[in-house]
Amino acid sequence: MEGKIYINGEWVGEQLPQLKVMNPATNECIGTIKQAGTSETMAAIVAANEAFRIWSKKTSHERFHILMKWHDLILQHKQSLAKTITEEMGKPISESIGEIEYAASFISWFAEEAKRVYGRNIPSRVRNKRIQVMKQPIGVVAAITPWNFPAAMLTRKMAPALASGCTIVVKPAEETPLTAIKLIELSKEAGISDGVINLVTGDAEAIGKELTTNSIVRKLTFTGSTKVGKLLMQQSAKTMQNLSLELGGHAPAIVCEDAKIDKAVDAVITSKFRNAGQTCICVNRVYVHHTIYEEFVTKLIQKVAKLKVGRGLDEQVQVGPLINKKAYEKVKLHINEATRRGATVRVGGEGYVDKGYYFQPTVLIDVTDDMLIMKEETFGPVIPVTSFQSDEEVISRANHSCYGLAAYFFTESMARGLHIAEELEYGIIGWNDGAPSMAEAPFGGMKESGIGREGGTEGLEAYLETKYISLGI
Ligand code: ADP
Repeated sequence: MEGKIYINGEWVGEQLPQLKVMNPATNECIGTIKQAGTSETMAAIVAANEAFRIWSKKTSHERFHILMKWHDLILQHKQSLAKTITEEMGKPISESIGEIEYAASFISWFAEEAKRVYGRNIPSRVRNKRIQVMKQPIGVVAAITPWNFPAAMLTRKMAPALASGCTIVVKPAEETPLTAIKLIELSKEAGISDGVINLVTGDAEAIGKELTTNSIVRKLTFTGSTKVGKLLMQQSAKTMQNLSLELGGHAPAIVCEDAKIDKAVDAVITSKFRNAGQTCICVNRVYVHHTIYEEFVTKLIQKVAKLKVGRGLDEQVQVGPLINKKAYEKVKLHINEATRRGATVRVGGEGYVDKGYYFQPTVLIDVTDDMLIMKEETFGPVIPVTSFQSDEEVISRANHSCYGLAAYFFTESMARGLHIAEELEYGIIGWNDGAPSMAEAPFGGMKESGIGREGGTEGLEAYLETKYISLGI
C-alpha cells in the first residue's frame, strides 16, 4: 500500500519522500507513507478552515446521516481493516476486530448525541434582559494519535469533532498510518465533504509545531506520552488552543479479601495482556490483601502460563509482538531491575526475537513500591504483584503516583467499594471490571495523565464553544 497525504478531498504529495511502514511481527515492509512537513500541514489547516464554513452550517441531523454511512462502511470492511491493524501494529486479529467495532461505536454514538447539543435560557435578575446560552462548534481541530489503537484513537477524536460541526486535521503515528488512510478512504465514500477531514503523515515535530502554533486551529486533541503532551501544551500556549490531552498512566489494581478471586484474576489478565500490555489503562501493579495473596498468585500464574504468544494473524495467539526494540528493552529493564532488587519471576520473564520482538507473559512477585516497575509505565506484558494489610494503606500506595488515569479494585462490599472509589485519584475506575472503555463513558485522567475527557457527553462538550447572549428588550 502506497499512502499519500489527504488535503481538501484529494490524495496528494506524490513528490514527497517516502517513509516505510513495518510489520512488527515480521519486520517486513508492508507499505509506505509520505513525509509531509510544515507547508503540507499549513495547506491542510487552510482546507479544514474553508470546509468549516459549510460543514458547521449543516444541521446535526444532516451530519448524522453522513456519519452513519461512514460507520456502516467501516463495519462492512471490518475484516480487512482489522487485518491492517494487526499487520501494522501487531495485536491479535480478534483484538483488531474488537477495535474496529469499538472505533465505529464512537461514530454512531456521537452522531446521535450531537442531535442533543442544547443551549439554555437563564432567568435574568432584571426584567428588561434575556439571557441565552448557545453551543457552537469550536472550529478547526488538530488531532495527533498514537500507534496502540490505530483506529479507535482516531475515531474517538474525529467522531465528536465532526458530529458537532468541526473540521479536522489528523496526524496518526508513523508506525500505524495505514489504518488511518483506509478509514479516511471510507469517509470519502460515505460522502464526508472535501476538507472536512485532512490527513498529514511524516515529520512529527514539524507537523506538531504547525498544528499547535497556527492560529486557525482552535483545538488540539492528543493521545500519547506525557512527555510529548507537555511539549504540545507548551507550544499551543502561543495560540491559547483548547486542549484535550490523554497521556500516560500507571494503573493500580487492588484485590480485597472479600473479592471473587477468579473474577479478579480474569479481569487483571484481560486488562494487562490486551495489546501485549501496550494500552494506557493496562493494569501496571497489583496489590493483593495479604490473606489471599498466595491463592491469588497461584491462580494468576496458572492462567498466565497458558497464554499463547506469537504473530497476531494466527487466530490462536493471545499476545502479539511488542511494537519495537525500544519497547522490548524497557520490559527487560523493568524485570531485571526488579529481580536484582529482590523480586521473583513466577512465570515468563523471558523475551525472544523472531524477526519481531516478543515477550512471554510474566508475573513478578515480592515487588516493592520503590522498584521502577511500580512507578514507570511498563507498556508490556508483565504483572508485578505485592500485598497489603489495610484499605487506608493500599489507597495511599495506589495514589502515590504522578499519573491518575485508570485504577481497578475488586470487592463485593458496596460500602467498602464506594469508599475506595471515592478515595482513588484516578479518572477511570474499574470496580470488579478490567475493561471500562466505552464510547458513551467519559475517558481521561487526572494529574499528569492529562486534561479533559473523551467519550460521553464530556467528549462532545470538548468540541463546543459556549456563547452567552445578553439580550436587552
Ligand atoms: P509513544 O511513545 O507511545 O510513541 P508519543 O507521545 O511519542 O508516544 O507519540 C504519540 C504521537 O505523538 C505520535 O503520533 C507521534 O508521532 C507524535 N509525536 C511525537 N513527538 C511529537 C512532537 N514533537 N510533536 C508532535 N507530535 C509528536
